[in-house]
Amino acid sequence: MTAGGMSRLSPGDTIGVLGSGQLGRMLAIAAARLGLKTHIYCPESGPALDVSVARTRAAYDDDVALSAFAASVKVVTYEFENVPAHTAEFLAARLPVHPNPFALETAQDRLVEKTFINGLGIATAPFVAVDNVADLREALARLGQPAILKTRRMGYDGKGQAMIRAGGDLAAAWVAIGARPAILEGFVPFVREVSVVAARGRDGAFAAFDLNENEHANHILSVTRAPANVAPDTARQAVEIAKKIADALDYVGVIAVELFLVIENGAEKLVVNEIAPRVHNSGHWTIDGADTSQFEQHVRAVCGWPLGSPKIRGLVEMRNLIGDDVHDWPKLLAEPGAYVHLYGKHEARPGRKMGHVTRVAMPKTRG
Ligand code: AMP
Repeated sequence: MTAGGMSRLSPGDTIGVLGSGQLGRMLAIAAARLGLKTHIYCPESGPALDVSVARTRAAYDDDVALSAFAASVKVVTYEFENVPAHTAEFLAARLPVHPNPFALETAQDRLVEKTFINGLGIATAPFVAVDNVADLREALARLGQPAILKTRRMGYDGKGQAMIRAGGDLAAAWVAIGARPAILEGFVPFVREVSVVAARGRDGAFAAFDLNENEHANHILSVTRAPANVAPDTARQAVEIAKKIADALDYVGVIAVELFLVIENGAEKLVVNEIAPRVHNSGHWTIDGADTSQFEQHVRAVCGWPLGSPKIRGLVEMRNLIGDDVHDWPKLLAEPGAYVHLYGKHEARPGRKMGHVTRVAMPKTRG
């Protein structure tokens, strides 16, 4: 037995993964490299199904299917954070689920998440809970404008958000986010967005990749560069923040912490935006640009295996191939040093993540 209360997995064992997207696909590929199998559980078809040995297509509240799934795997993890609480708890009563349901539930609700993070003494944007238009008016008076109204749950890639500027129509903003429980966040005048991708093992070991600097287009991650262009002390602080959060959640697996970099009185300061209890798009470069990828690191952690070295191999840039970008694949394949990843999705809809390309430059070739 290991810390965490279960024996570690052995090569040949099967990991259960909830969700069938590209993150599940890259997890399954990393698991296969280490001689492990994956069983994907999902209500819908997705690119992870092409690369797994077993699949269950069933709803997340289908207890009969969940029981059979639990009996067929040694550990359960997930590739997206909106797994219903019932599903995670049902499975956790039967076998180890990593990250644990508490971490999942904390990250699923922006109000709970930000309250938790502030409770650790870590800064976030100022926020106020909002349950109706009257609350919104009051919150706006406290936080000032501009401010951002965000649904507490199920928001991603800018969905479920409305920016409120001076003189903005509050009732329209409330309707725009679906008139659902929300928070209003004060606007953070950031100079850069960065993220920490790190892993915590069952024994509490912690390994962070180099800090990422992220550029978004239309609310979707477009480019990640690592290491981020920040002061060394800022990078250290970002990792300390991620470690503090992971320790407090008794987290096992890869976690991502998205942060805003602000300049206050001439000094760099970090403000947490949100956490993702899973592998993260800003960590995709680690497949080609680090000694151990974030996907392998997650597999190692949930299996009770030692974490690998997160050492970066050069100056790295990862670009998402979004929508029609993917049609450039023949050109990208011809480019020396471009690591091309295609997710096998059939239809290149606008805004859809179809693949990514990573380029790694050795430091001596730059500057
Ligand atoms: P989120 O879904 O919370 O990650 O927000 C999506 C994007 O909106 C972020 O990556 C930022 O670019 C922007 N954003 C979110 N919250 C704030 C904030 N409080 N202040 C300024 N920009 C924000």
